Amino acid sequence: MATPPYKYSTLAVHAGQYPDPQTGAVNVPVYLSSTFELTGIGTDRGWDYSRAGNPTRDRLEEALAALEGGVSGHAFTTGMAAISALVAMLRTGDHLICSKDVYAGTVRLFDRIVSGYGIEIPATCQTVAPRLRITAISFCCRPTTRLIHIETPSNPLMVLTDIAAVSKIAHAHGIEVSVDNTFLSPVLQSPLALGADIVMHSTTKYLNGHSDGLGGALIGTTPEHKERFLLVQKAAGGVMSPFECFLVLRGIRTLPLRIRQHEENGRAVAEFLSTHPKVSRLAYPGLKSHPQHALAVKQQKGFGSMLSFDVGSREAAGRFLGAIKIFLSAESLGGVESLASH
Ligand code: PLP
Repeated sequence: MATPPYKYSTLAVHAGQYPDPQTGAVNVPVYLSSTFELTGIGTDRGWDYSRAGNPTRDRLEEALAALEGGVSGHAFTTGMAAISALVAMLRTGDHLICSKDVYAGTVRLFDRIVSGYGIEIPATCQTVAPRLRITAISFCCRPTTRLIHIETPSNPLMVLTDIAAVSKIAHAHGIEVSVDNTFLSPVLQSPLALGADIVMHSTTKYLNGHSDGLGGALIGTTPEHKERFLLVQKAAGGVMSPFECFLVLRGIRTLPLRIRQHEENGRAVAEFLSTHPKVSRLAYPGLKSHPQHALAVKQQKGFGSMLSFDVGSREAAGRFLGAIKIFLSAESLGGVESLASH
């Protein structure tokens, strides 16, 4: 297992989380205020209305940008709200390439809402062989392609996409790359260091880490991203609440420790299932049997705790979920409890 560097663990404790300048409180105060007193017409103390900016959210956004190595972080109500904010930068006639196996909610958003705005979205990045997958992207790029959105590892099949290779192709065509980094967290994968332009998270998962809130984030790398995402936050309004920001900040402080334990547990479960006679098509990138294990070693700093497998039929899956103990049959991931779902 890859141990997150100590420097990173220190960053998780301190990025955006310095003592409150006014009181010295070691935890970031929760500013439950929708509005802020103005100092004059058009002047303020840094904040005027919480949709546009809130001191607690500022601290979380600072932490997120630092953890991913980006220029600016932006916190939203849910992961889906973050993806909606990401595609709000597209216009009618634009072309968006999305990896094939992605979270079902992302497919629902793209197919049933975004495509209605006249934005074309073929799911073509992933065919059978990893090499073909990369070549397929070059073939898909058009003069109107603005964004390639990839999720790696993917939910639920744990398919990997080579972030560096996709970014190289995309940049040669003047296209930006966004990566949904939810399944690994910033501890185990740094898409921006691999060449991606934007990182997206459902903070509902590992970053919050306790299954007690919903949230999403975008981390950009240019002043234009910052301006754009700030505008979407202010204009469209799907911003994270101050209390949820506090919960995510608290979760981030233990993120490297939790991820280390998640990985140890995930690997143990994967190894156990890999020899089980009733289990087939086990997908855990940390096992040598995973077809993209080499890519996982190359671009990830660890393998995480998510895995999927086949028990033969829907009925067998139902029996399995009915029989599990300690694990709960529920959808989501990244909390301290273990979950399984069909
Ligand atoms: N991206 C991935 C990979 C997910 O697994 C999920 C939710 O499960 C989302 C995005 C959406 O996040 P949220 O439920 O916070 O809207």
